Amino acid sequence: MRELKSSVLTEAICFDMISSVRKMNADVAQQVERRLGKAEVGGSSPLISFWKMQDVKGLASFLFSFGWYRKKEVDFMLEMKHCMQCGAKLTSRYLEGEGDVPYCESCQDFRFPVFNTAVSMIVMNESKSKIILIKQYNKNRYILVAGYVNKGEDAEDTCVREVKEELGLDVTSVHFNHSHYFAGSNTLMLNFTVTVDGEMPTPNKEIDYWKWFTKEEAAQNIAPGSLAEEFLLGYLTGEYHFH
Ligand SMILES: [Zn+2]
Repeated sequence: MRELKSSVLTEAICFDMISSVRKMNADVAQQVERRLGKAEVGGSSPLISFWKMQDVKGLASFLFSFGWYRKKEVDFMLEMKHCMQCGAKLTSRYLEGEGDVPYCESCQDFRFPVFNTAVSMIVMNESKSKIILIKQYNKNRYILVAGYVNKGEDAEDTCVREVKEELGLDVTSVHFNHSHYFAGSNTLMLNFTVTVDGEMPTPNKEIDYWKWFTKEEAAQNIAPGSLAEEFLLGYLTGEYHFH
């Protein structure tokens, strides 16, 4: 009985999702269906393996993967219409290991989606007993020092440059911590922990306020719900909860 219910429910949900995508954009729906049919999960397609799962966890994971496919295809359709190099209309071509990738027939080259890269830093004193948090943009909340990576610049160098520019402090060590893609600004955010020489910043105009905190205080004061909070708590506890 439970199996029957689950199977009927799943079928209805899958059908509903595919028809809603089809309504949105016929091309996208076609690509999603093709991808779903092609993708392998445990030796069978996600649709088939999901029907075998018959549980809530399976439903959640299937919905997530479907959402990801749909978002990826929609992004492709909306953002990658023309070649960045020559302006020709892009088509898509299958690339081994990558799936369908935007392709320029004129340049005869793949055009991977473009995104920004930025760094954010957990800035600590030399003994790593304190963390500096800042306030910016007239907002009354503590965040981490951050900045965009320039073209041609290594991310580690961005860390050194940004800390010097914003706080006037010299970075003495840089360690990669964690990364997260932030869809809001189409940015891959790379988080580092850095140590600095000295504890007296000479901040530039971008900084409204700064303060050194103990690790516990920093965890309590960092802007709730921010990416900065995810990075800081993740670093301090070793657990990340990005979604
Ligand atoms: Zn081109």
